[in-house]
Amino acid sequence: MSSIFTKIVQGDIPAYKVAEDDRFLAFLDINPLVKGHTLVIPKQETDYLFDLDDNLLGDLMVFAKKVGKAIESVIPCERIGMTVIGLEVPHAHIHLIPIYSIYDMDFKKDKLKLTSSEFQAVADEIQSAFQ
Ligand code: 5GP
Repeated sequence: MSSIFTKIVQGDIPAYKVAEDDRFLAFLDINPLVKGHTLVIPKQETDYLFDLDDNLLGDLMVFAKKVGKAIESVIPCERIGMTVIGLEVPHAHIHLIPIYSIYDMDFKKDKLKLTSSEFQAVADEIQSAFQ
């Protein structure tokens, strides 16, 4: 069965997309720790990040860097934190999180509740900053 992220890639379920090319997709995490919390994935479905081939992994990081630069240009933060967990969704992904302190990356915290229009506004801002 396809992962939930493959369903997003295929357009079967919606997501607030912020950047895309032929191999990679970035979209807002639906349960964000902070505004601008973004997931970056390879479109090719592989569960574990470290099972990606070296070139794809390297290019994913470069794509994530560009997404991170776009996020930090529109979301107030000290810098962009990056982490990989992957225990919930078996489709390799990188979390990009605008942070002021380590506590902004605490996944045990209550998640932010954003309205659909708030999500869309954040996605639009990041998307327009992405180059
Ligand atoms: P992890 O696998 O890294 O432990 O967590 C998966 C992340 O994906 C979580 O932060 C969760 O909020 C997010 N997530 C799970 N399902 C969806 C979804 O359907 N859409 C979006 N945008 N994010 C999701």
